[in-house]
Order: sequence, then C-alpha cells, then structure tokens
Amino acid sequence: MEINNKYSRRRFIRTLTYGTGVLALSPQLASLASCFPRTPNKKLGVALVGLGGYSSGQLAPALLETKNCYLAGIVTGTPSKAESWSKKYNIPEKNIYNYSNFDTIAQNPDIDIVYVVLPVSMHKEFTIRAAKAGKHVICEKPMALNAGECKEMIAACNQANRMLSIGYRLHFEPHTLEVMRLGKEKPYGKITSIDTANGFTYRGDPNSWRLKKALSGGGALMDMGIYSIQGSRYATGLEPLFVTATEEKTNPELFKEVDETINYKLEYPGGIVANGKSSYNENVGFLKIHAEKGDYGLEPAFGYGGIQGETPEGAMDFPQINQQAFQMDDFALCVSNKKKTRVPGEEGLRDMQIIDAIYRSIASGNREKIV
Ligand code: NAD
Repeated sequence: MEINNKYSRRRFIRTLTYGTGVLALSPQLASLASCFPRTPNKKLGVALVGLGGYSSGQLAPALLETKNCYLAGIVTGTPSKAESWSKKYNIPEKNIYNYSNFDTIAQNPDIDIVYVVLPVSMHKEFTIRAAKAGKHVICEKPMALNAGECKEMIAACNQANRMLSIGYRLHFEPHTLEVMRLGKEKPYGKITSIDTANGFTYRGDPNSWRLKKALSGGGALMDMGIYSIQGSRYATGLEPLFVTATEEKTNPELFKEVDETINYKLEYPGGIVANGKSSYNENVGFLKIHAEKGDYGLEPAFGYGGIQGETPEGAMDFPQINQQAFQMDDFALCVSNKKKTRVPGEEGLRDMQIIDAIYRSIASGNREKIV
C-alpha cells in the first residue's frame, strides 16, 4: 500500500505507530488500528438472517475475510437458498434455520451472533427473538420502523444480557474516522454548517418491500437519508435539537406509500445547521463540512468503497477497507472481550428519533423538536 500524499501519509503513520507511544493518535484511528490483524482465541459463529442482496453481496463475502468471526449459520424462508448457501459456504445442515424454527438456535453452541438482514418491519421481532435465544445481535439499519420499536429492542437485549449493535459500517472506515477526528480536534476551527445528501435513482422492483410503508417504515429517508443524518452527527460529535423538513415527489405512482425526496434542516447546538437531502431520484452521496478556517469533507461519502476525502491541506489518501469485515470483526471482539460496541442500539435509536421528527415536521409543516 503506497501513500504519497503529505496530509495522509502523516496521519496514516500515526495510525500505524499506535501503541508505540511515540505519537498521539485520535481515539477513532486508534480503535481502527486495534482492529488490524490479531489472533483471537476463538472465531465466533455468525448466523445471517435473511439472504437477500446485502447478505449475499456484502456480508457473506466479508465473512470470508474476517479474523474474529465466520459464517456459521443461516436463517432463510427459501429452501433453495438453504441448499445453495450450504454448498457455497460449507454450512452444516444443523446450522440452517427457517423463520419458524429459528428459536431453536438457542440450543446451538456454534452460533454466537445473529445478524438480522431483513426488511425493516422484521428487525424488532428477530432481534428480540435472537436475544431471547441467548445470542448477541447485529441488526441492520434503519434499526426499526420507529424509535419506540428501537427502545423495545434495546430493553430486550439488556434483559437477556446480550449485546446489540447496528450495522453502521462507516464507523470503521478510515476517511470517516478522520472526519470524526477533525470534528473533535477542530484543526480548521469550529464547524459552522454542513451540507449532506445521499440517494440513488430507484430503478428496482416496483413491488419491493422498500416501497411498502408497512415493511420499510418509509422511503429514501429511512434507506439512504439515515447515512447523511449519521454523517452530520459524527462530523460534529453533537446531537441535533430541532428539525424542519419538506418532501418532493416526481413519481407519485411509484412512491405511492413512501417518500421519494426529502430536504431537511437539522439544528445543532451552537448554531450549527446541517442541510440534508435524501432521494430515490438522484445518484448522490456527499458530506461537506464548513469550518471557520476552511472546508473539508467526503465525496463519495457513504458507499461500500471508494470513499474520498478533501481537506484544506489536501486530499486524504487513506486505504479503502472491507467495511463489513471490520465492522463484524470489531463486534466479535467486543463480544469476546465484553467491551461495548461503538455502534450500539442507542446509536440506531438516536437516528430513528431524528427520522421520526423529520416525518413529523413534514406532516405538521412545522419546526419539530427532536426528542
Ligand atoms: P433484500 O430485499 O435484497 O433482501 C431481503 C431479504 O429478506 C430477502 O432474502 C427476502 O427473502 C427476506 N424476506 C423475508 N421476509 C420478507 C418479506 N415479508 N418481504 C420481503 N422480503 C422478505 O434487501 P437487502 O438489501 O438485503 O436489505 C436487508 C436489510 O439490510 C435492510 O434493513 C437494509 O436497509 C439493510 N441494508 C444495509 C446496507 C448497509 O450498507 N448497511 C446495505 C443494503 C441493505
């Protein structure tokens, strides 16, 4: 890996020298460094629940790269997938479940972590069932249909004394970690405002669960906007207090039940404003941070790879990593070491409280307080 850029070389060297005590390092980069190759005593077993696009395209391949966990089991409602996955990933019959017999996973010592990768309306049920079965849980974003459901999920995991994490893969991504550090250490002065957007032009199945409100909870805001909301939160290290939002629809037939494009303004403490946009009608993904002594940010900001960063001192040139592998390895390490994950259920709850307030603002036409 070659890093030629002055800005990035200096900072990446800091990452690599972590632990030597020679140079100070941001906590985010330090914890990233702590994820670099290590030899765990035992690889934890992960069972993926729901074998759709994200499981098959990203999580299962990432689990071939992880060092602290591996793909031990699957939960699927489709027998043909059970067969093909079993062959492809060498999963024994005894570690294959369907949605009805899922609870018997409690008796399976091969499975330590259940990863819920289902339509949003099923997140609460399967997170709670997994915790009751004695398993630690990773649940995909958005955490649930609303903040109330998130609270139930957190309570159930606490009651079962199991850890809960949300699939926020960017908290392990080097450019993103640098944005967190810059927000904390403020080398470019105080942040004054943020512009951020995330979306894509929806050309998928018109009958997808993503377009059915009962299954998805909402449209582009829930699916894509959540990244920008997260972005302004981790860039500032603060929590927004109020929101004002408006909605636009160019295709009311396709987006009959869910939002297509939403513009929102989040008001943070200290007068910082984040202007955000979520869309199913535009290929976009950036996080631009305006600070007193210059602007910095990421574009693309939220993808699985190819994240690029700019600062007043030049471009960031950090390595691209397998975000999902880092995310799952970190959680496995947290479980093994009984250490709190940096992306717990509370992080998912916070985003859902903001999303709930955005939908309230659209409905009321008013500026809404974020609870
Ligand atoms: P998908 O439509 O590709 O897969 C959904 C899976 O759920 C399928 O295997 C389907 O068979 C199963 N399923 C079970 N009951 C269903 C029902 N009633 N209706 C529809 N499907 C049902 O979706 P996906 O893209 O894999 O998304 C799954 C979850 O992962 C969502 O929460 C999504 O937001 C999240 N996701 C996260 C990321 C990320 O970057 N973190 C990326 C993509 C998806």
